[in-house]
Amino acid sequence: MLATHLENRRVEVRNVRRPQRPTGFALIRLLVGGICNTDLELQRGYYAFRGTPGHEFVGEVVDADSAGLLARRVVGEINLACRKCEWCRKGLGRHCPTRTVLGISGHPGAFREFLTLPETNLHVVPDSISNEAAVFVEPLAAACEILDQADIPDGSSIAVLGDGKLGLLIAQMLKAGGKDVHLYGRHKNKLRIAERAGVEVGAVKRKPPSNTYDWVVEATGSADGFRQAVQMTRARGTIFLKSTVHGAAHVDMATVVVNELTLVGSRCGRFEPALALLQSRKVDVTDMISDTMPLAQAKRAFARAAEPGVLKVLLQG
Ligand SMILES: [Zn+2]
Ligand SMILES: [Zn+2]
Repeated sequence: MLATHLENRRVEVRNVRRPQRPTGFALIRLLVGGICNTDLELQRGYYAFRGTPGHEFVGEVVDADSAGLLARRVVGEINLACRKCEWCRKGLGRHCPTRTVLGISGHPGAFREFLTLPETNLHVVPDSISNEAAVFVEPLAAACEILDQADIPDGSSIAVLGDGKLGLLIAQMLKAGGKDVHLYGRHKNKLRIAERAGVEVGAVKRKPPSNTYDWVVEATGSADGFRQAVQMTRARGTIFLKSTVHGAAHVDMATVVVNELTLVGSRCGRFEPALALLQSRKVDVTDMISDTMPLAQAKRAFARAAEPGVLKVLLQG
């Protein structure tokens, strides 16, 4: 079968043996995979990654212990947890200290014709959600995590910094949740996607307002975003940090202390609210697809995804 291989910043497609399915796991045929910024960071050399990347996918179960999963379309949570430790017992396998992570650490990813995941990680995709939308469940779940982490009153004014893939999903998700959302970004075409969803947009060039928001989401993917988020937040406000920026962030911590800001790191989320948002069509992701290429052209797809201004690039299994 075909499998994407990433090593020393190079992406290639290899012919490898089909993976064995351990007990409790499902064997899944890839339908569509989505290239995310994390994949591009792996390519840039973070986490010393070597192997098959890919953690955003929708696939079809071809073998499993549970007969009910056979031939079903599924998406999968990316953390493979021990299911025994304190975190796992609390239902927070996403923080299990001995977890492996699909396509990121310790478990080969989804950019291959067949992949394996524990059956307990899988969610069946309702028929009304297309493959091209279902592939967004994982990043949309990460967006939804914000509302699991804080009680944001309805009608609250929230600023989202960054009009990349995640920023757009977060802005749409918050809007669907009844918030007053202001998205700040650099790209007219991307801001327009949020605007169509009823989000107020502003160009970041015209300096975003300082001391204005009680709630700010930082999703720029750049170290400078954090500094900007601190400036925009009112005293006692909360900043959600969504960018996994590597290295030191240069920010005046005195402002954080004096203004008594709350910083909330935010990563993966539950899949249920994301599936519900796609099913109700309250979040529309079709505008966010820049390109679709066959798995065999993964190398070209990675290059395309790294071009400036490009949103989601999909790989067809
Ligand atoms: Zn991702
Ligand atoms: Zn655990």
